[in-house]
Amino acid sequence: MSLADSRADDATAAGALHIAPFRFDVTPPIGHSCCGGWIKPIEVVDDSLEAVGVVLLGAGQPIVLCAVDWTGLLNEAHVAWRTALAQAAGTTADRVAVHCVHQHNAPFACLEAERIVAAEGDLPHIVDVDFFKRCLEQARQAVEQAIPKARAVTHIGWGQGKIEGVASNRRVHRDETGKVLAMRGSACTDLRLIALPDGLIDPFCKTLAFFDGEKKVASLHYYATHPMSYYADGRCTSDFAGLARKQRQQDEPDCLHIYFTGCAGNVSAGKYNDGSKEMRPVLTKRLYDGIVASEARLERSAVKSLAWKTAEILPPPRSSLLAEMIAQQIATKTNAVVDRNRPSYMLSWLRRVEQKIPIVLSSLHLDGVKLLHLPAESFIEYQLRAQSLANDDFVCTAAYGDGGPWYIPVKEEYANEGYEVSVAFCEPDIDDLMTEGMKRILTN
Ligand SMILES: [Zn+2]
Repeated sequence: MSLADSRADDATAAGALHIAPFRFDVTPPIGHSCCGGWIKPIEVVDDSLEAVGVVLLGAGQPIVLCAVDWTGLLNEAHVAWRTALAQAAGTTADRVAVHCVHQHNAPFACLEAERIVAAEGDLPHIVDVDFFKRCLEQARQAVEQAIPKARAVTHIGWGQGKIEGVASNRRVHRDETGKVLAMRGSACTDLRLIALPDGLIDPFCKTLAFFDGEKKVASLHYYATHPMSYYADGRCTSDFAGLARKQRQQDEPDCLHIYFTGCAGNVSAGKYNDGSKEMRPVLTKRLYDGIVASEARLERSAVKSLAWKTAEILPPPRSSLLAEMIAQQIATKTNAVVDRNRPSYMLSWLRRVEQKIPIVLSSLHLDGVKLLHLPAESFIEYQLRAQSLANDDFVCTAAYGDGGPWYIPVKEEYANEGYEVSVAFCEPDIDDLMTEGMKRILTN
Protein backbone atom coordinates (compact mmCIF):
# COMPACT_ATOMS: atom_id res chain seq x y z
CA MET A 1 0.00 0.00 0.00
CA SER A 2 1.68 3.17 -1.10
CA LEU A 3 -1.14 5.66 -1.18
CA ALA A 4 -1.26 7.22 2.24
CA ASP A 5 -4.20 9.07 3.67
CA SER A 6 -5.32 12.06 1.69
CA ARG A 7 -6.31 15.07 3.68
CA ALA A 8 -9.20 17.32 2.81
CA ASP A 9 -9.70 18.93 6.14
CA ASP A 10 -10.10 22.54 5.34
CA ALA A 11 -12.85 23.79 3.13
CA THR A 12 -12.84 27.30 4.48
CA ALA A 13 -14.83 30.40 3.86
CA ALA A 14 -12.54 32.62 1.83
CA GLY A 15 -13.90 36.04 2.81
CA ALA A 16 -10.64 37.17 4.41
CA LEU A 17 -8.42 35.83 1.63
CA HIS A 18 -5.23 37.82 1.03
CA ILE A 19 -2.35 37.29 -1.37
CA ALA A 20 1.33 38.16 -1.02
CA PRO A 21 3.36 37.93 -4.25
CA PHE A 22 7.13 37.35 -4.04
CA ARG A 23 10.06 36.75 -6.36
CA PHE A 24 13.80 36.35 -6.02
CA ASP A 25 16.86 35.59 -8.12
CA VAL A 26 18.14 31.99 -8.40
CA THR A 27 20.72 32.49 -11.16
CA PRO A 28 23.63 30.12 -10.49
CA PRO A 29 27.22 31.37 -10.33
CA ILE A 30 29.49 31.09 -13.39
CA GLY A 31 30.86 27.56 -13.62
CA HIS A 32 27.77 25.95 -12.09
CA SER A 33 26.71 22.64 -13.61
CA CYS A 34 23.71 22.56 -15.91
CA CYS A 35 21.21 19.73 -16.08
CA GLY A 36 23.18 17.44 -13.77
CA GLY A 37 26.66 18.18 -15.06
CA TRP A 38 26.68 16.32 -18.37
CA ILE A 39 26.23 19.41 -20.54
CA LYS A 40 28.36 22.56 -20.61
CA PRO A 41 28.37 24.49 -17.29
CA ILE A 42 27.35 28.15 -17.03
CA GLU A 43 29.79 30.42 -18.87
CA VAL A 44 27.58 33.43 -19.54
CA VAL A 45 24.27 34.67 -18.16
CA ASP A 46 21.99 35.72 -21.02
CA ASP A 47 19.07 36.31 -18.68
CA SER A 48 18.45 35.60 -15.04
CA LEU A 49 16.66 32.64 -13.48
CA GLU A 50 13.97 33.48 -10.94
CA ALA A 51 11.71 31.90 -8.36
CA VAL A 52 8.28 33.50 -8.47
CA GLY A 53 5.37 32.79 -6.16
CA VAL A 54 2.47 33.79 -3.96
CA VAL A 55 1.43 33.22 -0.36
CA LEU A 56 -2.32 32.90 0.23
CA LEU A 57 -3.39 34.07 3.68
CA GLY A 58 -6.61 34.27 5.62
CA ALA A 59 -8.21 30.92 4.78
CA GLY A 60 -6.76 28.36 7.14
CA GLN A 61 -2.99 28.10 7.44
CA PRO A 62 -1.07 29.91 4.69
CA ILE A 63 -0.61 28.25 1.30
CA VAL A 64 2.47 28.87 -0.87
CA LEU A 65 2.72 28.33 -4.64
CA CYS A 66 6.09 28.83 -6.34
CA ALA A 67 7.63 28.29 -9.78
CA VAL A 68 11.42 28.08 -10.18
CA ASP A 69 13.46 28.50 -13.39
CA TRP A 70 15.51 25.35 -12.75
CA THR A 71 15.66 21.95 -14.45
CA GLY A 72 14.45 20.16 -11.36
CA LEU A 73 14.26 19.93 -7.57
CA LEU A 74 14.45 16.33 -6.48
CA ASN A 75 13.89 14.41 -3.26
CA GLU A 76 15.50 16.10 -0.24
CA ALA A 77 16.13 19.30 -2.27
CA HIS A 78 12.42 19.61 -3.00
CA VAL A 79 11.54 19.00 0.64
CA ALA A 80 14.12 21.64 1.67
CA TRP A 81 12.54 24.27 -0.58
CA ARG A 82 9.03 23.50 0.64
CA THR A 83 10.20 23.54 4.25
CA ALA A 84 12.02 26.89 3.92
CA LEU A 85 9.02 28.54 2.25
CA ALA A 86 6.68 27.00 4.83
CA GLN A 87 8.73 28.25 7.78
CA ALA A 88 8.88 31.75 6.34
CA ALA A 89 5.13 31.80 5.66
CA GLY A 90 4.20 30.25 9.02
CA THR A 91 2.67 27.10 7.61
CA THR A 92 3.48 23.43 7.05
CA ALA A 93 5.45 22.00 4.12
CA ASP A 94 2.43 20.03 2.86
CA ARG A 95 0.74 23.36 2.12
CA VAL A 96 3.59 24.46 -0.16
CA ALA A 97 3.75 23.57 -3.86
CA VAL A 98 7.11 24.19 -5.57
CA HIS A 99 7.51 23.47 -9.28
CA CYS A 100 10.33 23.85 -11.76
CA VAL A 101 9.83 25.32 -15.21
CA HIS A 102 12.43 22.75 -16.41
CA GLN A 103 14.86 24.84 -18.47
CA HIS A 104 18.06 22.84 -19.10
CA ASN A 105 20.79 25.49 -18.87
CA ALA A 106 20.00 25.56 -15.17
CA PRO A 107 20.56 23.62 -11.92
CA PHE A 108 19.09 20.10 -11.58
CA ALA A 109 19.23 19.93 -7.82
CA CYS A 110 19.38 16.67 -5.89
CA LEU A 111 21.42 16.83 -2.68
CA GLU A 112 21.88 13.06 -2.38
CA ALA A 113 23.08 12.84 -6.00
CA GLU A 114 25.50 15.67 -5.22
CA ARG A 115 26.89 13.74 -2.24
CA ILE A 116 27.28 10.64 -4.42
CA VAL A 117 29.19 12.35 -7.24
CA ALA A 118 31.24 14.47 -4.82
CA ALA A 119 32.45 11.27 -3.14
CA GLU A 120 33.84 10.09 -6.49
CA GLY A 121 36.18 13.07 -6.61
CA ASP A 122 36.50 13.26 -10.39
CA LEU A 123 32.92 14.13 -11.44
CA PRO A 124 31.32 17.51 -12.12
CA HIS A 125 29.08 18.66 -9.29
CA ILE A 126 25.31 18.25 -9.53
CA VAL A 127 24.58 21.37 -7.48
CA ASP A 128 26.71 23.87 -5.55
CA VAL A 129 25.44 23.30 -2.02
CA ASP A 130 26.44 26.76 -0.74
CA PHE A 131 24.57 28.38 -3.62
CA PHE A 132 21.58 26.12 -2.92
CA LYS A 133 21.55 27.25 0.72
CA ARG A 134 21.79 30.90 -0.33
CA CYS A 135 18.70 30.40 -2.50
CA LEU A 136 16.80 29.01 0.50
CA GLU A 137 17.86 32.02 2.55
CA GLN A 138 16.64 34.32 -0.23
CA ALA A 139 13.37 32.38 -0.32
CA ARG A 140 12.83 32.98 3.39
CA GLN A 141 13.60 36.67 3.10
CA ALA A 142 11.39 37.17 0.04
CA VAL A 143 8.40 35.54 1.72
CA GLU A 144 8.93 37.35 5.04
CA GLN A 145 9.12 40.69 3.24
CA ALA A 146 6.07 39.93 1.07
CA ILE A 147 3.61 38.95 3.79
CA PRO A 148 3.21 42.38 5.45
CA LYS A 149 2.36 43.78 2.01
CA ALA A 150 -0.38 41.21 1.29
CA ARG A 151 -3.36 42.47 -0.68
CA ALA A 152 -7.01 41.53 -0.28
CA VAL A 153 -8.45 39.11 -2.82
CA THR A 154 -11.89 40.39 -3.74
CA HIS A 155 -12.32 37.97 -6.63
CA ILE A 156 -10.52 35.66 -9.02
CA GLY A 157 -10.53 35.43 -12.79
CA TRP A 158 -9.87 32.43 -15.00
CA GLY A 159 -9.52 31.82 -18.70
CA GLN A 160 -7.62 30.01 -21.41
CA GLY A 161 -6.04 30.73 -24.77
CA LYS A 162 -5.12 28.30 -27.51
CA ILE A 163 -1.47 28.20 -28.57
CA GLU A 164 -0.50 27.13 -32.08
CA GLY A 165 2.94 26.02 -33.13
CA VAL A 166 4.65 25.30 -29.81
CA ALA A 167 3.67 22.02 -28.12
CA SER A 168 4.06 18.72 -29.98
CA ASN A 169 4.24 15.16 -28.72
CA ARG A 170 7.72 13.62 -28.64
CA ARG A 171 6.55 10.02 -29.11
CA VAL A 172 4.72 10.13 -32.45
CA HIS A 173 7.10 8.04 -34.59
CA ARG A 174 6.04 4.45 -33.92
CA ASP A 175 5.95 1.06 -35.57
CA GLU A 176 2.71 -0.81 -36.23
CA THR A 177 2.73 -2.32 -32.71
CA GLY A 178 2.99 1.13 -31.10
CA LYS A 179 6.69 0.95 -30.17
CA VAL A 180 8.41 4.33 -30.29
CA LEU A 181 11.06 4.37 -33.03
CA ALA A 182 12.58 7.84 -32.64
CA MET A 183 12.00 10.77 -30.33
CA ARG A 184 11.05 14.23 -31.62
CA GLY A 185 13.11 16.16 -29.06
CA SER A 186 13.01 19.83 -28.06
CA ALA A 187 14.67 20.70 -31.36
CA CYS A 188 14.27 18.63 -34.49
CA THR A 189 15.64 18.80 -38.04
CA ASP A 190 14.46 15.38 -39.24
CA LEU A 191 11.85 16.17 -41.90
CA ARG A 192 10.06 12.84 -41.42
CA LEU A 193 9.52 13.57 -37.72
CA ILE A 194 8.57 17.20 -38.37
CA ALA A 195 5.92 16.09 -40.85
CA LEU A 196 4.17 13.88 -38.30
CA PRO A 197 1.16 15.43 -36.54
CA ASP A 198 1.24 17.25 -33.19
CA GLY A 199 0.08 14.07 -31.46
CA LEU A 200 -1.41 14.18 -27.98
CA ILE A 201 -0.94 17.63 -26.37
CA ASP A 202 -2.99 20.15 -24.40
CA PRO A 203 -3.03 23.20 -26.70
CA PHE A 204 -4.34 25.60 -24.04
CA CYS A 205 -2.52 28.08 -21.87
CA LYS A 206 -4.65 28.47 -18.77
CA THR A 207 -4.65 31.38 -16.36
CA LEU A 208 -5.85 32.01 -12.83
CA ALA A 209 -5.68 35.65 -11.71
CA PHE A 210 -6.21 37.19 -8.27
CA PHE A 211 -7.85 40.62 -8.06
CA ASP A 212 -8.04 43.30 -5.38
CA GLY A 213 -10.94 45.32 -6.74
CA GLU A 214 -10.02 46.28 -10.29
CA LYS A 215 -6.30 45.66 -9.65
CA LYS A 216 -4.92 42.35 -10.89
CA VAL A 217 -2.38 41.41 -8.20
CA ALA A 218 -1.09 38.05 -9.47
CA SER A 219 -1.62 36.03 -12.60
CA LEU A 220 -0.69 32.33 -12.74
CA HIS A 221 -0.20 30.75 -16.17
CA TYR A 222 -0.05 27.05 -17.04
CA TYR A 223 1.08 25.42 -20.28
CA ALA A 224 2.51 21.98 -21.01
CA THR A 225 5.71 21.82 -23.04
CA HIS A 226 9.39 21.31 -22.44
CA PRO A 227 10.55 24.95 -22.38
CA MET A 228 13.81 24.68 -24.37
CA SER A 229 14.54 26.14 -27.81
CA TYR A 230 18.26 25.24 -27.65
CA TYR A 231 20.63 24.51 -24.79
CA ALA A 232 23.90 22.90 -23.72
CA ASP A 233 25.83 25.99 -24.87
CA GLY A 234 26.79 27.25 -21.39
CA ARG A 235 24.48 30.27 -21.65
CA CYS A 236 22.18 30.60 -18.67
CA THR A 237 18.67 31.51 -19.78
CA SER A 238 15.06 31.16 -18.72
CA ASP A 239 14.46 30.27 -22.41
CA PHE A 240 11.21 30.86 -24.27
CA ALA A 241 8.83 30.10 -21.41
CA GLY A 242 10.74 32.35 -19.03
CA LEU A 243 11.21 35.06 -21.64
CA ALA A 244 7.46 35.09 -22.44
CA ARG A 245 6.70 35.35 -18.73
CA LYS A 246 9.22 38.21 -18.31
CA GLN A 247 7.75 40.09 -21.28
CA ARG A 248 4.25 39.83 -19.76
CA GLN A 249 5.74 40.97 -16.43
CA GLN A 250 7.14 44.08 -18.16
CA ASP A 251 3.69 44.89 -19.56
CA GLU A 252 2.20 44.86 -16.07
CA PRO A 253 4.78 45.74 -13.40
CA ASP A 254 2.11 45.91 -10.68
CA CYS A 255 0.87 42.36 -11.24
CA LEU A 256 3.12 39.37 -10.56
CA HIS A 257 3.13 36.89 -13.43
CA ILE A 258 4.01 33.26 -12.69
CA TYR A 259 4.51 30.52 -15.27
CA PHE A 260 4.08 26.83 -14.43
CA THR A 261 5.03 24.01 -16.78
CA GLY A 262 2.28 21.39 -17.03
CA CYS A 263 2.62 17.66 -17.69
CA ALA A 264 5.23 17.91 -20.44
CA GLY A 265 7.11 14.63 -19.99
CA ASN A 266 6.27 13.64 -23.57
CA VAL A 267 5.75 17.13 -25.01
CA SER A 268 8.25 19.58 -26.55
CA ALA A 269 8.46 22.16 -29.34
CA GLY A 270 10.22 19.68 -31.67
CA LYS A 271 7.74 19.83 -34.53
CA TYR A 272 8.09 23.63 -34.66
CA ASN A 273 11.66 24.20 -33.56
CA ASP A 274 14.83 23.45 -35.50
CA GLY A 275 17.00 24.60 -32.61
CA SER A 276 18.30 27.67 -34.46
CA LYS A 277 18.86 30.96 -32.64
CA GLU A 278 16.10 32.54 -34.74
CA MET A 279 13.46 30.25 -33.29
CA ARG A 280 13.79 31.32 -29.64
CA PRO A 281 12.09 34.73 -30.15
CA VAL A 282 9.48 33.09 -32.39
CA LEU A 283 8.54 30.52 -29.73
CA THR A 284 8.66 33.24 -27.06
CA LYS A 285 6.16 35.32 -29.04
CA ARG A 286 3.80 32.39 -29.61
CA LEU A 287 3.78 31.59 -25.90
CA TYR A 288 3.47 35.26 -24.95
CA ASP A 289 0.52 35.65 -27.34
CA GLY A 290 -1.06 32.56 -25.71
CA ILE A 291 -0.68 34.10 -22.26
CA VAL A 292 -2.25 37.36 -23.46
CA ALA A 293 -5.10 35.44 -25.12
CA SER A 294 -5.61 33.42 -21.96
CA GLU A 295 -6.01 36.62 -19.93
CA ALA A 296 -8.11 38.47 -22.49
CA ARG A 297 -11.51 37.19 -21.40
CA LEU A 298 -11.29 36.20 -17.76
CA GLU A 299 -14.42 34.95 -16.10
CA ARG A 300 -14.64 36.63 -12.73
CA SER A 301 -16.17 35.64 -9.45
CA ALA A 302 -15.79 36.27 -5.72
CA VAL A 303 -14.25 33.30 -3.88
CA LYS A 304 -16.78 31.73 -1.55
CA SER A 305 -14.79 28.72 -0.41
CA LEU A 306 -11.22 27.55 -0.44
CA ALA A 307 -9.85 24.04 0.16
CA TRP A 308 -6.38 22.57 0.10
CA LYS A 309 -6.21 18.82 -0.42
CA THR A 310 -3.22 16.52 -0.36
CA ALA A 311 -2.48 12.87 -1.09
CA GLU A 312 0.83 11.19 -0.36
CA ILE A 313 2.20 8.51 -2.65
CA LEU A 314 5.32 6.38 -2.45
CA PRO A 315 5.60 4.71 -5.85
CA PRO A 316 7.90 1.67 -5.98
CA PRO A 317 11.16 1.98 -7.97
CA ARG A 318 11.69 0.02 -11.20
CA SER A 319 12.77 -3.51 -10.36
CA SER A 320 15.54 -3.05 -12.95
CA LEU A 321 17.20 -0.42 -10.73
CA LEU A 322 19.71 -2.40 -8.71
CA ALA A 323 21.63 -0.29 -6.23
CA GLU A 324 24.87 -2.25 -6.44
CA MET A 325 24.97 -2.20 -10.22
CA ILE A 326 24.21 1.50 -10.29
CA ALA A 327 26.94 2.25 -7.74
CA GLN A 328 29.36 0.26 -9.90
CA GLN A 329 28.39 2.27 -12.96
CA ILE A 330 28.99 5.55 -11.10
CA ALA A 331 32.37 4.36 -9.85
CA THR A 332 33.60 3.28 -13.29
CA LYS A 333 35.92 6.11 -14.20
CA THR A 334 36.05 5.19 -17.89
CA ASN A 335 32.28 5.77 -18.26
CA ALA A 336 31.09 9.06 -19.75
CA VAL A 337 29.95 11.71 -17.23
CA VAL A 338 26.30 11.27 -18.25
CA ASP A 339 26.56 7.55 -17.49
CA ARG A 340 27.88 8.32 -14.01
CA ASN A 341 26.03 11.47 -12.94
CA ARG A 342 22.65 10.34 -14.26
CA PRO A 343 22.72 7.04 -12.34
CA SER A 344 23.42 9.07 -9.18
CA TYR A 345 19.82 10.33 -9.46
CA MET A 346 18.63 6.71 -9.69
CA LEU A 347 20.51 5.76 -6.55
CA SER A 348 19.09 8.82 -4.79
CA TRP A 349 15.56 7.75 -5.70
CA LEU A 350 16.16 4.22 -4.34
CA ARG A 351 17.51 5.63 -1.07
CA ARG A 352 14.64 8.08 -0.77
CA VAL A 353 12.04 5.32 -1.18
CA GLU A 354 13.90 3.23 1.38
CA GLN A 355 13.48 6.15 3.78
CA LYS A 356 9.76 6.21 2.92
CA ILE A 357 9.70 9.92 2.14
CA PRO A 358 6.47 10.31 0.17
CA ILE A 359 5.65 12.51 -2.79
CA VAL A 360 2.89 14.97 -1.93
CA LEU A 361 0.20 15.60 -4.55
CA SER A 362 -1.89 18.66 -3.79
CA SER A 363 -4.80 20.64 -5.11
CA LEU A 364 -6.12 24.09 -4.30
CA HIS A 365 -9.87 24.50 -4.81
CA LEU A 366 -11.25 27.99 -5.24
CA ASP A 367 -14.88 27.11 -5.81
CA GLY A 368 -14.93 25.65 -9.35
CA VAL A 369 -11.30 26.49 -10.14
CA LYS A 370 -8.80 23.80 -9.20
CA LEU A 371 -5.02 23.98 -9.25
CA LEU A 372 -3.34 20.59 -9.39
CA HIS A 373 0.27 19.99 -8.32
CA LEU A 374 1.99 16.91 -9.73
CA PRO A 375 5.54 15.58 -9.53
CA ALA A 376 8.36 15.20 -12.03
CA GLU A 377 8.12 14.65 -15.78
CA SER A 378 4.52 13.47 -15.86
CA PHE A 379 3.10 12.57 -19.26
CA ILE A 380 0.46 14.84 -20.82
CA GLU A 381 -2.15 12.09 -20.36
CA TYR A 382 -2.24 12.88 -16.60
CA GLN A 383 -3.15 16.51 -17.21
CA LEU A 384 -5.91 15.57 -19.65
CA ARG A 385 -7.14 12.90 -17.21
CA ALA A 386 -7.25 15.46 -14.40
CA GLN A 387 -9.47 17.71 -16.49
CA SER A 388 -11.87 14.85 -17.21
CA LEU A 389 -11.90 13.74 -13.55
CA ALA A 390 -12.95 17.24 -12.53
CA ASN A 391 -15.90 17.32 -14.95
CA ASP A 392 -16.96 20.91 -15.50
CA ASP A 393 -14.44 22.48 -13.16
CA PHE A 394 -11.57 24.55 -14.53
CA VAL A 395 -8.31 22.70 -13.83
CA CYS A 396 -4.80 24.19 -14.10
CA THR A 397 -2.03 21.60 -13.77
CA ALA A 398 1.58 22.20 -12.76
CA ALA A 399 4.03 19.30 -13.00
CA TYR A 400 7.77 19.20 -12.30
CA GLY A 401 7.14 19.33 -8.56
CA ASP A 402 9.24 16.75 -6.70
CA GLY A 403 11.46 15.47 -9.51
CA GLY A 404 12.64 12.27 -7.76
CA PRO A 405 10.97 9.75 -10.15
CA TRP A 406 12.20 11.44 -13.35
CA TYR A 407 9.77 10.47 -16.13
CA ILE A 408 6.26 9.37 -15.21
CA PRO A 409 4.73 7.63 -18.24
CA VAL A 410 1.18 6.31 -18.18
CA LYS A 411 1.23 2.56 -17.62
CA GLU A 412 0.29 1.65 -21.22
CA GLU A 413 3.37 3.44 -22.52
CA TYR A 414 5.96 1.29 -20.72
CA ALA A 415 5.62 -1.46 -23.35
CA ASN A 416 6.19 1.11 -26.09
CA GLU A 417 9.66 1.91 -24.75
CA GLY A 418 11.50 5.01 -26.01
CA TYR A 419 13.78 7.42 -24.12
CA GLU A 420 11.27 8.56 -21.51
CA VAL A 421 10.45 5.00 -20.45
CA SER A 422 14.17 4.15 -20.28
CA VAL A 423 14.63 6.84 -17.61
CA ALA A 424 11.38 6.35 -15.72
CA PHE A 425 12.47 5.39 -12.21
CA CYS A 426 9.15 3.85 -11.09
CA GLU A 427 7.16 0.75 -11.97
CA PRO A 428 4.04 1.22 -14.13
CA ASP A 429 1.83 1.14 -11.03
CA ILE A 430 2.86 4.72 -10.34
CA ASP A 431 0.04 5.43 -12.82
CA ASP A 432 -2.61 3.84 -10.57
CA LEU A 433 -1.22 5.59 -7.48
CA MET A 434 -1.14 8.99 -9.17
CA THR A 435 -4.58 8.55 -10.68
CA GLU A 436 -6.11 7.42 -7.39
CA GLY A 437 -4.45 10.35 -5.61
CA MET A 438 -5.67 12.80 -8.27
CA LYS A 439 -9.23 11.49 -7.91
CA ARG A 440 -9.14 12.02 -4.17
CA ILE A 441 -7.79 15.55 -4.27
CA LEU A 442 -9.78 16.78 -7.27
CA THR A 443 -13.19 15.73 -6.03
CA ASN A 444 -15.00 17.99 -3.63
ZN1 LIG B 1 12.58 16.80 -19.46
